[in-house]
Amino acid sequence: MNYEDLKELIRYLKKVTKCSECNNRFIDKDVSVLATLPLEAIFQLSCRKCHNTMLVNIGIKHEREHRSLVTKEDVNDMKQFLNTFNGDFKNLFNPSKK
Ligand SMILES: [Zn+2]
Repeated sequence: MNYEDLKELIRYLKKVTKCSECNNRFIDKDVSVLATLPLEAIFQLSCRKCHNTMLVNIGIKHEREHRSLVTKEDVNDMKQFLNTFNGDFKNLFNPSKK
């Protein structure tokens, strides 16, 4: 899974997922990536309001399996992305915190 896929899954996640306890909608900083597989990713969602934690597993839609052309730039992006992966993507979505 590349970074674009991951971002798309997170967008989807925020659109369709609500806190199971208080129906709060999640925002970027509530979402942590626990694991990524070629066609799916596992996210942890932490509710800001009630501190409920949910684990969500989302796969890339079957019809999206036709991949777009991967450029050299994409590969470099991905390498950089993996180099900075530390299991906690909160900083990624809040670069101002650095
Ligand atoms: Zn909640």
